[in-house]
Amino acid sequence: MQRTLVLLKPDTVQRSLIGTLVSRFEQKGLKIAGLKMMNMTPALCDEHYSHMTSKPFYPAILSFMTCGPIVAIAIEGHDAVSVVRKMCGLTAESEWVSGTIRGDYARSIDNNLIHSSDSEETAKVEVARFFQDNELFTYTRSLNS
Ligand code: ATP
Ligand code: MG
Repeated sequence: MQRTLVLLKPDTVQRSLIGTLVSRFEQKGLKIAGLKMMNMTPALCDEHYSHMTSKPFYPAILSFMTCGPIVAIAIEGHDAVSVVRKMCGLTAESEWVSGTIRGDYARSIDNNLIHSSDSEETAKVEVARFFQDNELFTYTRSLNS
């Protein structure tokens, strides 16, 4: 069982798509282990996108990610990192496919609705970055723990 981090970016909140996107993961059978609305501070954004801070488009990422509240979600399930990443869709607009979250709802690479961890190692670091231990929940479901 793996945990992965999803961030619903400010455009998801602004477009009232929180429930729609959370439903996708619930309908897939993935388990919500933690969920909270929060503001992404500039310092947190620098840390989270540390692999991007030298890119020319980083100021746009920083401005976007701090323009309004986000929703952080810890998602649990078999092979959750890869499954969630595939459900979100690829980065480049030209690669967006219908049936993925970005393919169905995103408007541009700058307003791409959702972040998901890109590897098992990253997921561990990212879940810990956004959630304290006491904000993560373990519970049983009758048909699928
Ligand atoms: P995220 O980490 O936000 O989930 P991702 O993993 O699909 O997205 P990354 O390579 O981690 O893509 O890039 C982080 C963010 O940087 C992307 O969400 C996108 O907004 C922006 N970005 C990435 N590549 C480009 C690019 N070539 N031009 C403009 N913006 C880009
Ligand atoms: Mg990424």
